[in-house]
Amino acid sequence: MKLYFASGNDHKKKEMSRLLGGYDLILPKEEGIDFDPDECGNDFISNAVIKAEALYSIVQQPVLADDSGLMVKALGGKPGVHTARYGEKEKGRKLSDREKYMFLLENMEGKEDRSAVFVTALCLILSDERRYIIQESCEGKITEKPSGVNGFGYDPVFFINEAGMISAELPEGDKDLYSHRGKAARIMKMLLDKEENNG
Ligand code: IMP
Repeated sequence: MKLYFASGNDHKKKEMSRLLGGYDLILPKEEGIDFDPDECGNDFISNAVIKAEALYSIVQQPVLADDSGLMVKALGGKPGVHTARYGEKEKGRKLSDREKYMFLLENMEGKEDRSAVFVTALCLILSDERRYIIQESCEGKITEKPSGVNGFGYDPVFFINEAGMISAELPEGDKDLYSHRGKAARIMKMLLDKEENNG
């Protein structure tokens, strides 16, 4: 199955291909398609659907899209859909991953409840009539200080409850067992495998 992935990010494509166990994903830019939809949804599912529909309307072929982020209880669910750009409005410039998680730690100073959850939404459009949406989560806590070198984004400050470890301290393959994205991708793989076998 030719499967388009609604993203501009090579790292994300590599990771999603690995999680799906070998599906050859095609980024729009690889076929010269100009793709930069306005991710204006209020939740992860809305944004995954916006991205999937925008690309499907162009290619009219099976499309997969994802959206993810971190919701922190003591911050009323923030940064949520703004996780990728967290702190940039306040600081007035683009921030590195480290600057973003340090900004989060600043905002968590003095907070007793440090519980948080990572969420991933995936949207698969196979045809006008056939669409699947999956949302999965990974429960954890925001640590007091960063630790670990693996992973990306907020991994150095996210303790995964189920693993009993900080996300950035887990080997990449082990993180997939517990992560929001790993869980969602495993369900998506079952759907795609079924589709391939029936096709
Ligand atoms: P998006 O899915 O591209 O919208 O990005 C969401 C943002 O959430 C990313 O830029 C990361 O900073 C963060 N993020 C998503 N998943 C993870 C993860 O597994 N570990 C750490 N940070 C993550």
